[in-house]
Amino acid sequence: MIIQLQKNIGEITKQQIINTVASMKYKSTEVNTQRGSYLVCIGKSDFDIRNIGALEGVFDVHRVSESYKLVSRKWKVNSTVIDLGDGVQIGDGKLSLMAGPCSIESEEQVRSVIAHLVKNNIRIMRGGVYKPRSSPYAFRGMGIEGLKMFSSICKENNIKLITEVMEVSQVNEMHDYVDVFQVGARNSQNFNLLEALGKVDKPVLIKRGMSVTIDELLQSAEYIFSAGNEKLMLCERGIRTFENAYRNTFDINAIQILKDKSHLPVIADPSHGVGIRDYVSKTGLASVVAGADGVIYEVHETPEEAASDGQQTLNFEESADFIKKAMLLEGLGLNGRLVF
Ligand code: PEP
Ligand code: MN
Repeated sequence: MIIQLQKNIGEITKQQIINTVASMKYKSTEVNTQRGSYLVCIGKSDFDIRNIGALEGVFDVHRVSESYKLVSRKWKVNSTVIDLGDGVQIGDGKLSLMAGPCSIESEEQVRSVIAHLVKNNIRIMRGGVYKPRSSPYAFRGMGIEGLKMFSSICKENNIKLITEVMEVSQVNEMHDYVDVFQVGARNSQNFNLLEALGKVDKPVLIKRGMSVTIDELLQSAEYIFSAGNEKLMLCERGIRTFENAYRNTFDINAIQILKDKSHLPVIADPSHGVGIRDYVSKTGLASVVAGADGVIYEVHETPEEAASDGQQTLNFEESADFIKKAMLLEGLGLNGRLVF
């Protein structure tokens, strides 16, 4: 059960609600976010929910039986919109595109990608400075100095920036330079990191881990929300299956199901989802039809020379073609978002 508290509720009134809930053998956790105050109550006994709704200080009350609560659409029917400022919004009904290289490599590279994004009206650039690589000998990113450079060029061009944070100790040092923190697939269930990101006032995009179920992804998002940050987005980026004809199995079903189960924006990552450049565009377009609020993909001037993930990275021509087709679907009203 989620009890939404009235704004400016007094401590005594709040305690009375907690006591009433406790007398019904429910344990409550208090959650305070940028947008509201809630009590998430866990228990089994049956009772008339109207008795809670009638209590002083209660704004609204909802029964949510899933293991995730605050990220569920059961209590918040309206889709969440993430506002990055300067007119950049995600989840507002329009398709959001976020593109950039897998890794930030140099100032020249950032400038060349930004020029491509600006030309194609894309307002959000991705790029990793801390890279989780399977091999310790692979390029592992430019680190915080690379992020500072990336951030200043983005600001110059009025572009928003999304980048991966890999551990708790990086959250503070990165904070002022990012618009969206990305939690990578490998950290999808790093609960310490998730909790740390619950304490910042910056949006978070959380990716689904390679062997994480849809319910587990939602519970990971719940970790961040319940720690105080409700500016969240979910990302499907493919899971690991027995199939090895491509890098990952992009779970198109997850897009629709996540949209149904949760009020959070759902972003598709077809680059990691399929892992082969020739198929990225079609997988991306399919996810738009399935209802994704946005697509995040990898682009580079010369993918063959990219420091990481070149095999799944579009060049500028392929990227421009993808953008054109995605916008065409949008214009024709073929995006699956219309049903949510
Ligand atoms: C990335 O976005 O470059 C990345 C490492 O993604 P994932 O965590 O989905 O593998
Ligand atoms: Mn990558």
